[in-house]
Amino acid sequence: MKPEKFKSTCSYCGVGCGIVIHKDAKGKIKVEGDQDHPVNKGMLCSKGMNLHYVVEDKSDRLFFPQMRWGKDHPLERVDFDTALQRAAAVFRTFIKKYGPDSVGFYVSGQCLTEEYYLVNKLVKGYLGTNNLDTNSRLCMSSAVAGYNLTLGEDSVPVSYEDIELADCFLVAGANPAWCHPIIWRRIEAHKEKNPATKIIVIDPRKTQSCELADLHLQIFPGTDVVLLQAIGRCLIESGDIDWTFITEHTQGFEAYKNQVLEKSLEEASEICGVNKRDIKRAAAYIGESKGFLSLWAMGLNQSSDGVNKNLALIALNLITGHIGKPGSGPFSLTGQPNAMGGREVGGMSTLLSAHRKLSDPKHLKEVADFWGVESLPDKPGLTATQMIEAIEEDKLKAIWIICTNPIVSLPDSVRVKEALKKARFVVVQDISVNNEAIPYADLVLPAAGWAEKEGTMTNSERRISYLNKAVEAPGEALPDGEILIRFARQMGFSGFDFNGAEEVFCEHAALTKGTNIDISGLDYSYLKKTGTAQWPFIHPSDKPSKRLFEDKVFYNPDGKARILPSQYTSQNEAIDPDFPLILTTGRIRDQWHTMTRTGKVKKLGRHIPLPFLEIHPYDALERGIIEGQTVIVSGRRGQVKVHARLTKSIRQGVVFLPMHWGKILEEDFAKTNNLTGNSIDPISKQPDFKFSAVQVAKF
Ligand code: SF4
Repeated sequence: MKPEKFKSTCSYCGVGCGIVIHKDAKGKIKVEGDQDHPVNKGMLCSKGMNLHYVVEDKSDRLFFPQMRWGKDHPLERVDFDTALQRAAAVFRTFIKKYGPDSVGFYVSGQCLTEEYYLVNKLVKGYLGTNNLDTNSRLCMSSAVAGYNLTLGEDSVPVSYEDIELADCFLVAGANPAWCHPIIWRRIEAHKEKNPATKIIVIDPRKTQSCELADLHLQIFPGTDVVLLQAIGRCLIESGDIDWTFITEHTQGFEAYKNQVLEKSLEEASEICGVNKRDIKRAAAYIGESKGFLSLWAMGLNQSSDGVNKNLALIALNLITGHIGKPGSGPFSLTGQPNAMGGREVGGMSTLLSAHRKLSDPKHLKEVADFWGVESLPDKPGLTATQMIEAIEEDKLKAIWIICTNPIVSLPDSVRVKEALKKARFVVVQDISVNNEAIPYADLVLPAAGWAEKEGTMTNSERRISYLNKAVEAPGEALPDGEILIRFARQMGFSGFDFNGAEEVFCEHAALTKGTNIDISGLDYSYLKKTGTAQWPFIHPSDKPSKRLFEDKVFYNPDGKARILPSQYTSQNEAIDPDFPLILTTGRIRDQWHTMTRTGKVKKLGRHIPLPFLEIHPYDALERGIIEGQTVIVSGRRGQVKVHARLTKSIRQGVVFLPMHWGKILEEDFAKTNNLTGNSIDPISKQPDFKFSAVQVAKF
């Protein structure tokens, strides 16, 4: 075998770094950063650097389909045809007896765009239900709603190139130094060259990102709307707003102004726990800037107030006119590698293909005609947490889980596990035996992983990348797209006559024609030649569109952006004497999601080997807890057993747990989501992972 080289993209976060896979004469692979890639220019973070270990280590892989003939039967090996015939028979029966809404698919922001396209077409076009949701619901759905409500469509307006053109960064509810490391490397390098660049971080914890910040606003959890509006108030009062832009290109400023002026700076300062001087300083940094980027992630999105937080943040860009120009704009940091691609194909229960609207009969007809089906369901389907409720109520009879580990990642783990136990039919399609839903599955389907299949993904800056297949999948594992096509054929559906991922991509690209995300000019041959392209991409000879809204025309019907008032509803879980501390959750630098991949890499485990609870020394002292001691964190839904890390970098009254760990030594006690609840944002339906009431005691 001759050594070979393959271009690909990192399969972890939404930064979307380019990777070169080197395959030696023995078939072993190694990875390095792609020097020619516009995102990372050869750099990779610790997770990306170690991707080859994940591919090479097959010890946890699922090799063949397994099925149980009854709930109390063990899983038995079967072939793919038998497995998919059974799945098709069960789905047909449920749909016939209880209607199409009795089945659902729960998939992942790690699926490739082609896989997303197929599952969307299958579920909405052919099964006849919108019950297709994804773990992106836990990640970016509040940002999607925020963009829709303000800009008229779910569109990230900036490019990474804007990083080097900005002179003020507001990082709210994100720790990019650990969670989007290559973006942060670029910001660090930019600040080093331009020391006058200002960085403001809003976070209840003093994270690694705060080390570079000029100003850290250590906010009381959940009060972001109040703080962002107070900054808006200061900007209005100091006159640091762009009147021409507001007048000519926006609507809603008066209502926004009236709302932000309702609360005095003193009141706002009291509520959010940030002193007035620092609020004014943040506003001054923004007001004096020529290029202002606001960056945010789960700290805003994963909240029962997530959409309001997005509106309050985006308003700062709009009142200052910092959008559609170099170095400026709201810039959501996508958590997952292809959450954006999923949104583009309409792969969520509330979306339709190519950013069309589920509520628009014309859009529904366009997609139905394109797919050659009579009609599409028009009512939104079940979202991630609603699926769990529907299983409990026996409304959702069958759930098909692809590439995600819901018992660890969804809130209220104990409830999710009980629901899956109760579900009439569960399919788990995954690469790893460590998916904790497998014990409750009736059918387990082995999937191909990263580097074992081809396809595309879109990163946080609308950049579509091609991922090569470099190695064969182990055993009988198949690409997720291939499994979906075979299932559709078992169901007797005609629209799945695809011969490989390229044909699926072409169909998806054709369906975007005439929309704001038109990529009808893009194909695999262009992507293979150039590596990447940003949307829209109508013709290869067009000038690449790096930044949206440079013409100041937004996607609302009147072409104007909306500056919207946002409510601080404080609908968080109540703290009381039994549960007096606020738990917030998040990521650590070297682990990814539920660790089914990064957990296999010894090097990555060295950074932080075990789960921990961050607690302020005063809160620890009150409870007689010392550094390293094992503690029990209790909440209204469950418990977690971890060791304590005493640190003044967290606010008093607040504790932090990393989200990653599932079962350790057969015990569920490390699972952070034993403690999180079922509170969701009323618009985006995104669950709140950032505010749960807990108590901490010595073990
Ligand atoms: Fe992968 Fe994200 Fe790290 Fe880049 S920054 S190497 S995309 S995990």
